[in-house]
Amino acid sequence: MRNNKSGPHCLCGPFCIMMTDNIIINIEDLGFDYASDDGEIAALTGVSLSLARGSFTAVIGRNGSGKSTLAKNINALLVPTRGQVTVGGFDTQDEDRIWEIRRMAGMVFQNPDNQLVSAVVEDDVAFGPENLGLPREEIRARVRSSLESVDMYDQRKMAPHLLSGGQKQRIAIAGVVAMRPDVIIFDEPTAMLDPEGRGEVLDIAKRLHAEGITVLLITHFMEETVDADRLVIMDRGRVAMDGAPGEIFTRTEELRALGLRLPFAVDLAEGLRARGVPIPEGLLHEEELAEVLTCLNQK
Ligand code: ADP
Ligand code: MG
Repeated sequence: MRNNKSGPHCLCGPFCIMMTDNIIINIEDLGFDYASDDGEIAALTGVSLSLARGSFTAVIGRNGSGKSTLAKNINALLVPTRGQVTVGGFDTQDEDRIWEIRRMAGMVFQNPDNQLVSAVVEDDVAFGPENLGLPREEIRARVRSSLESVDMYDQRKMAPHLLSGGQKQRIAIAGVVAMRPDVIIFDEPTAMLDPEGRGEVLDIAKRLHAEGITVLLITHFMEETVDADRLVIMDRGRVAMDGAPGEIFTRTEELRALGLRLPFAVDLAEGLRARGVPIPEGLLHEEELAEVLTCLNQK
């Protein structure tokens, strides 16, 4: 068996530290079956992925393609039926490491209401650090810095149920940040939010990434994936595509065959190109498209 710490491309053997230190999550040939009354449901079949420390990876795919099952296998809410998942070198099947794995790889879920447990914002954020048994002063400092990192420190005395969906989701994120995670896995964190809340949460994810946290963002909004370092497309329990967004979004036929919509700017650029308008390839943002069209109009 491969050394726990090695990445999938490491050929140097068990003492290699050059490439291995850079891999925070390693998933090898992961299979996961759910038991149901009608027998086993194969939710994941042969997923292999390794995530570099400090990277921002977006995951997209149709409903039921296995995204949530993948996320839960990373933070050991589920453990593999086949294959292996390691987080920071620890195997998720190692029960002695389960709490450390969950601390290292925090999760933010779709519904903020299901993640908030206390009647006051600051108590909610303190909940995780308290369970770690940290000293009072350390807990206070973490609550403050975590709430500041999601721009919610001023609301620390408020009741979570009085906040907007986007604000509640930011409190849930602060609760994860207070655990000092290496990775945050966001499982469709904006699905239940209005456009404003969606923007706020996405901005926070980008900011945390800029501060050094590894981000895995599962989403069904194509536009949320364009700024990721890497885009992984799931289909029927497998990785169907894996690459930089700029490369993936040139493969429009494959994406459509997988039942996926294109980001608005990519879709419109393709339509214009088909009508003979000379729009360059690899354009992902609406602002870029607007700029190109303005230039063309002035020629
Ligand atoms: P996604 O997050 O991409 O929508 P999921 O990981 O939730 O996909 O689901 C993958 C597959 O596993 C689907 O076929 C789904 O119906 C099935 N599934 C998910 N959760 C359960 C469960 N608790 N019990 C049985 N089957 C499940
Ligand atoms: Mg899901």
